[in-house]
Amino acid sequence: MNVLDLARPELLRLQAYSSARMEAGSDGIVLNANESPWPHDEAAPLHRYPSPQPARLRERLAALYGVDASRLLIGRGSDEMIDLLVRAFCRAGRDAILVQPPTFGMYAVCAAVQGAAVRAIPLVREQGFAIDAPAVLAACATGVKLVFVCAPNNPTGAPVAPETVLALTDALRGRALVVVDEAYVEFADGASLADQAGVRDNLVVLRTLSKAHALAGARIGCLIAAGAIVALLRKIMPPYPLPAPCVTAALAALTPAALLRTGERVAGVCAQRQWLRRELVDLPGVREVLASQGNFLTVRFEDAGARLRQLLAAGIIVRDVRRHPGLEDALRITIGSPAEVQAVRAALAQPLEDVA
Ligand SMILES: *Cc1c(COP(=O)(O)O)cnc(C)c1O
Repeated sequence: MNVLDLARPELLRLQAYSSARMEAGSDGIVLNANESPWPHDEAAPLHRYPSPQPARLRERLAALYGVDASRLLIGRGSDEMIDLLVRAFCRAGRDAILVQPPTFGMYAVCAAVQGAAVRAIPLVREQGFAIDAPAVLAACATGVKLVFVCAPNNPTGAPVAPETVLALTDALRGRALVVVDEAYVEFADGASLADQAGVRDNLVVLRTLSKAHALAGARIGCLIAAGAIVALLRKIMPPYPLPAPCVTAALAALTPAALLRTGERVAGVCAQRQWLRRELVDLPGVREVLASQGNFLTVRFEDAGARLRQLLAAGIIVRDVRRHPGLEDALRITIGSPAEVQAVRAALAQPLEDVA
């Protein structure tokens, strides 16, 4: 059994586009890509197409995540990786993905764009939003190619037991890939499953520089998986996905000094998260502050709509997550700077009657 047996067979036969930069290096007189010889800015030249997978960035990310560089694919955020996985593994009108609500909305959106079905097996609220493994396995009996696990989960912030994910992965071997989206793992107590991705050939892990590494604007995320999956996704990815200034920004965020600063900031965010949670649990009108392992708190209110307006009146924009099953009375609040966290507390401490 080869993990590529799960992929769309027509893509396995596809002859990938071969770009100029893939076919040859860029030392010498470079006349193979119809580029301009003149940069606008000699100090930051942009007249050449960038490397499709810049070696230095790949090595840095591989070291950061403790994985072999051959298992790593860099793209425009983990959002692009979700899209590529669905397109590579799901045949329109035939295959499905499995999601576990309440969870990140992009999985289902990418499936809809591809024409793949979406099976939903809700997380078990009474067990701290745990995976319902028997139900997931039963739902995977036919047609499910990708099982998405968001760990820690967005928008609940709940951790996911790694032993459950690994057991699910082993049970689904030869039938489906388990895709673990670790966008918030830096803020969590638990460890990443990155070192298992590709070791178990049907386990895929997604990481991003958008959240903990403060680089959402650069759009850099990656997929860690078996080398065969990396090679397949490269076939269907555009030839030059990574803009050179974004690669430069990512490298600057991955120097030892920058990583040290990131570690301190992440610890600070976690401390602020604990502080705000303790402050909010006792406020009148607050039903529950979900225990969160992300850089956000999801709060259930007696009147979430009024709280949304109250925060807005104070100039604070939070995420309305009331459309998610089980969170019909909840708002998701990102942990910002200490001053921003204070502002949230001050606004929510006002009695609702005082809000116009
Ligand atoms: C923010 C987020 C992403 C998107 O990350 P990018 O790398 O910026 O595309 C992916 N998954 C989850 C769960 C997120 O919350």
